[in-house]
Amino acid sequence: MTSSFPASTVLGYPRIGPDRELKRALESYWEGRSSRADLEETARRLREDTWRRLAALGLEGLPSNTFSYYDQVLDTAVLLGAVPGRYRHDDDLATYFAMARGAEGIAPLRMTKWFDTNYHYIVPEIGPDTVFSLDAAKPLAEVREARALGLETRPVLVGPVTFLLLSQATPDSPDGFAPLDRLDDVVEVYARLLAELAAEGVGWVQLDEPALVADRTAADPAAVEAAYGRLGRLENRPSLLVASYFGDLGDALPVLAGTPVEAVGLDLVRGTAHGVDALAGKTVVAGVVSGRDVWRADRDRALATLRAVRERAGRVVVSTSCSLLHVPYDVERETGLDPALRRRLAFAEQKVAEVVELAALLAATPGRHLPEHFAAQERPHTSRVRTAEGRAPYAVRAAAQAEHLKLPLLPVTTIGSFPQTGELRRARAALAAGEIGEAAYESMVRAEIEQVIALQERLGLDVLVHGEPERNDMVQYFAEHLDGFAVTRHGWVQSYGSRCTRPPILHGDVRRPEPITVRWARYAQSLTSKPVKGMLTGPVTIVAWSFVRDDLPLREVVFQVADAVREEVGDLEEAGIRVIQVDEPALRELVPLRRAEQAAYLEWAVAAYRWATSGASENTQIHTHLCYSDADEILAAIDALDADVTSIESARSRGRLLGAVGAFPRGLGPGVYDIHSPRVPGADEVERLLTEALRTVPTERLWVNPDCGLKTRSYEQVEAALANVVEAAARLRERYA
Ligand code: GLN
Ligand code: ZN
Repeated sequence: MTSSFPASTVLGYPRIGPDRELKRALESYWEGRSSRADLEETARRLREDTWRRLAALGLEGLPSNTFSYYDQVLDTAVLLGAVPGRYRHDDDLATYFAMARGAEGIAPLRMTKWFDTNYHYIVPEIGPDTVFSLDAAKPLAEVREARALGLETRPVLVGPVTFLLLSQATPDSPDGFAPLDRLDDVVEVYARLLAELAAEGVGWVQLDEPALVADRTAADPAAVEAAYGRLGRLENRPSLLVASYFGDLGDALPVLAGTPVEAVGLDLVRGTAHGVDALAGKTVVAGVVSGRDVWRADRDRALATLRAVRERAGRVVVSTSCSLLHVPYDVERETGLDPALRRRLAFAEQKVAEVVELAALLAATPGRHLPEHFAAQERPHTSRVRTAEGRAPYAVRAAAQAEHLKLPLLPVTTIGSFPQTGELRRARAALAAGEIGEAAYESMVRAEIEQVIALQERLGLDVLVHGEPERNDMVQYFAEHLDGFAVTRHGWVQSYGSRCTRPPILHGDVRRPEPITVRWARYAQSLTSKPVKGMLTGPVTIVAWSFVRDDLPLREVVFQVADAVREEVGDLEEAGIRVIQVDEPALRELVPLRRAEQAAYLEWAVAAYRWATSGASENTQIHTHLCYSDADEILAAIDALDADVTSIESARSRGRLLGAVGAFPRGLGPGVYDIHSPRVPGADEVERLLTEALRTVPTERLWVNPDCGLKTRSYEQVEAALANVVEAAARLRERYA
């Protein structure tokens, strides 16, 4: 329990592989094309490569147990034996993947966003009767594996408080039960784990407690005290680092400081060193290199922060602000990027090098002076928030649009994308590789649009879409067509399980050099007399799913993107497009973790959306789409977007949503077809869902649509499902006519 913490570390590292090796290995294993041994060998090699690379870069404190076959929260559930009975198989890996992905008619555990990142974790189920038991195999195996390479590591685990706060109660739990009620039992399992790790000769263990930076229930400070008081007082244990990240610890800092843990990790990029004096006598693992962006650290600023923390607390260790899971591997591979931009960028490898360099600089400057800018500084900025003139009131617009669009009652539409065929994706790759010309690709896209329009006419939809065949991704596509963005070739970041995204890099002022979507929308409209909906991604979502420049306030950047979207809206209108949808599925994602900051965010986010859409005439119907099921939490903000029609995913919490939307004063389409599942809903089922919705939504305001885009489904499923949706709407129309 006495070894001091190494001078430099990172809280975690990417694990999907520089070439997404883990993705490929997982998918091939799931499809039965490779063996468990193949999968394990790929995983072992990835871990070995990571440890060797970190050591070669000069990092002293190497983390282990940061690898995962799917998700670290799911790993923790397995570690604690919290496996719901319905998922149990003889084969442990089958059990594991059943929880993550479902099996034989059993739905997987819920998945949701990891704080305000684009990573998604599996939500464990904990009930009053959950029997906890320690399964330490994974962290122990990783410690031994690294040791066999001659490397000592620090196992990283999700901490007990965060684990329980992120869990949900089992469906049969009594009212009032919360997983955190089981804290004492869970802490006992951690205690046994720490004893096993100590017996293995492990010097330090990292327990991640990011839940402490979000607003907590009143029980939480007590939970922190109980958990870390108990673990800290154990006789036989490694030294403990409790890592917070994604913001300030706030009230949890003094609580943690009062427990016998040896080290506390602070996010000094998003948070401040406020209150750090309380940590005198402990080691502060100072997160000065951001794990959330792709920019090189400001060295002087980071050093000043490190020195200041050293003055006030005990020992200081240089670290990343959070795990590097959220950034790509290596910017040196991005040879296609403008060299001037590349020099400004740091991916995981470069960030490790920065941590190492800062540790050396800190060691070389033992001075005892306090720099002035101790706390994180508000950057000065000129506010250029544009306020929309505002369109005519909804009632006026609704009347104008009824006249102009002549839509039937309960209009049927879709969210935008139609299935992306392998043929299309291959053609796009061939175009990028220069194997086919622009003209050949374009004629393929046009042929696809023709089919999608014909299909919708045949099925009898009311507001058609062109199907988005030209888009690889709803954000990347716009990034590729706007100035100020760069796209990478290898910059993959894990989103969940084997799924990765390649966020664009927003590095400069955003400008739209020319119309982006207009010719496709115009072409689609030329094929039909029904209105075709123009499809745009909203400014908040474009920014939320990109790596964003940090030299301007976020809202300033969002307004720049809103300018571009506004221009596109204008051009679509001019091209004769009468319905325009501006998607904002990420509106909720940027909501700050602290309640006190949420209202200000929602205000500017809504203002940006309105700026993007308010140039439209009252005849033009503006739609928006939001993906998530817990939209009821921000219903007031959704209302304030002032879109004429809002479609919302509702498969997963329909009752709650409908309960909340009673007073929603505009068009509303709560999804009636869960596109996340291959299941085709029957017409009776859709009719029932619509009937239910009509109890809260007035007939003239209810829209009929799937939950989300159809991109990931097959044409077979989509045709069958949409036929049933149209049929259900027709039956109801007859009833209400
Ligand atoms: N228009 C997009 C689509 O249909 C919306 C996707 C989304 O909400 N994530 O694919
Ligand atoms: Zn969606």
